[in-house]
Amino acid sequence: MTRFRQAHRLRNVRYDVRGPILTEAARLEAQGHDVLRLNLGNMRPFGHQARPEILEAVAGGLDAAQAYSDSRGIPQAREALAEHYRGHGISGASAESVFLGNGVSELITLTLQALVDPGDEILVPAPDYPTWTGAVHLTGGVPVHYLADEADGWNPSVEDIESKITPATTAIVLINPNNPTGAVYSEATVRGIVDVARRHGLILLSDEIYADLVFGGARHHYAARSAGDDVLCLTFGGLSKAYRVCGYRAGWVSVTGPVQDAADLLEGLTLLSNMRVCPNATGQYAIPAALSAGTPGSPLAADIVDPGGLLEDRLARTAAALDAIPGVSCVAPRGALYCFPRVDTELFGIVSDEEFVLDLLRSEHILVTHGTGFNWPEPDHFRIVCLPDGEVLDRAVGSIANFLDRRRRRSA
Ligand code: PLP
Repeated sequence: MTRFRQAHRLRNVRYDVRGPILTEAARLEAQGHDVLRLNLGNMRPFGHQARPEILEAVAGGLDAAQAYSDSRGIPQAREALAEHYRGHGISGASAESVFLGNGVSELITLTLQALVDPGDEILVPAPDYPTWTGAVHLTGGVPVHYLADEADGWNPSVEDIESKITPATTAIVLINPNNPTGAVYSEATVRGIVDVARRHGLILLSDEIYADLVFGGARHHYAARSAGDDVLCLTFGGLSKAYRVCGYRAGWVSVTGPVQDAADLLEGLTLLSNMRVCPNATGQYAIPAALSAGTPGSPLAADIVDPGGLLEDRLARTAAALDAIPGVSCVAPRGALYCFPRVDTELFGIVSDEEFVLDLLRSEHILVTHGTGFNWPEPDHFRIVCLPDGEVLDRAVGSIANFLDRRRRRSA
């Protein structure tokens, strides 16, 4: 019997990416096994270094970073972000309505705390990055999942979103490019979702942390650009992915649209920012340097995340190899860092996908994440991180194929 118990509001909060499966991986490692961890989009452990300008800027800021910063973050980073977004056609972006945080993760929780009352409904994609669903639960709000359509390159169905709106709906969450599916939403989809928000007076919460990780000729469309000045849009981004400094915890949210109508919400965001005093000051110095060093794809950048670069190759070869396994199909990702293949549950005798990935871990020492951990409703998907060398990925997919083959024969 546990004497000291967690709060009831944690009851429905889950973050399986680092859940029981990670404990099992740690147990195997403690026994001396080498586990290939393909569960986290964490760049540095796979050898992906940030560009030197970013490290130099952080080193140069160490002295100043001894102090608390403005609770919203250092002005030079907020200015750089506003300019960056204006450069992407989001004309209303302003340093005054940019808030920095300890990664997008903190800002998701902070924003939802500022926005959501118990009973409010928030439309969240399924599958999602699970912090979104978890953070809605934390507020006492209700996450209402809309389906991304695997047959349509995992684009969300705009009709499904609209059909799920009720008088209690407050906001629509977009995750584009998407984790875990790798989808990059078409312009028509982004515009369609923005129009739904416009017609129903909803707020857009647009997680675009992978905006600079887009491949295969796909183009990323910022929701805030379509939202213009009449739909309130909160754009979330950060340095953890394309800029490869996850541990610096440098994230932001930029509020654009009819900000004059959102003074009360901005006051709430400011209050919560004040209460956490400020984000980690050190990491903030990375932001102007990262943005002025050029986003991936610009002439200044030449590295693994560029279109046509190593990461694109790793995603494509992993998706193709998975897709070639009998009983597995995989929509080729066009952005982010992951593949999200479908597995035939009947053929492989899968009832619980969590049990399935545990079985894979114990048998092959490969750590992936089960699809229901991303609030996908069926036990028929898993997510694999595509950051290691191509040969390592090829071997991992080979082991997964052998493992599946054994399961298929066992359940025949
Ligand atoms: N949003 C999405 C879609 C993510 O995939 C992640 C991390 O994987 C985050 C937010 C959190 O990023 P961070 O807190 O490192 O900024």
